[in-house]
Amino acid sequence: MKLNMLKYPEIREYLKKNDSLLIPIGTCEQHGPHLPLCTDTIVAERMCDEISNKYGILVAPTINYGVNLPLDNKIMTGTTGITYDILKETLKCITEYWKMQGFKHFFVVSCHGDIFHIKALNDASDSVEVIETYEVEQKDLLEKQICTRHACESETSVMLYLYPELVDMSVAKDFDISNDTFMPYLEHKKDAPIDGYIGNVGYSTFASREKGKIIYKRMIENLEKVIKNSY
Ligand SMILES: [Zn+2]
Repeated sequence: MKLNMLKYPEIREYLKKNDSLLIPIGTCEQHGPHLPLCTDTIVAERMCDEISNKYGILVAPTINYGVNLPLDNKIMTGTTGITYDILKETLKCITEYWKMQGFKHFFVVSCHGDIFHIKALNDASDSVEVIETYEVEQKDLLEKQICTRHACESETSVMLYLYPELVDMSVAKDFDISNDTFMPYLEHKKDAPIDGYIGNVGYSTFASREKGKIIYKRMIENLEKVIKNSY
């Protein structure tokens, strides 16, 4: 159930029973040669819709831009984003108005793990609870990674499960880089081109629909747990 598809008297009725909102956070960010730029957006929206159907919590309009690696903003065609300050202020502003009307809890669902992106969401307000969707156990499932990296074995698997028609495995390639080399990029201190960089970080070619099904189930269970704990 989408908040902006309702009329305001209907939202007043909703507030008599429920004071929560789900807010999907998207990005416009390259996801390697094999996944679309909307990957983070459509997975977050799908999760919010599923939880909304089960628990009757309204879903707010998606914030469609996030904070990206400076390297991606510079060279990965199509990618764009906003800064830490703009994301923080946007989330703060929209939730402040909703709070004046009676909303109290905001579940902010993000599939994008950039450290400044997550920090902006957390710093926006005490009333938001940020769910980093891919922060679930995956060691037992993945063959080449221990957790989600980027457009990798994990994220590609989830896309193969949810949106196989949007994945082109014929152009997927693996790319690895040591943590020490990549850290200055993750910390937004460096944006110089990296030899062989194609956008994804990790082992996309090891992705499968079966892995994606289990990872996604864990992501949904984790989100449900956060929601149940807050009531
Ligand atoms: Zn992503």
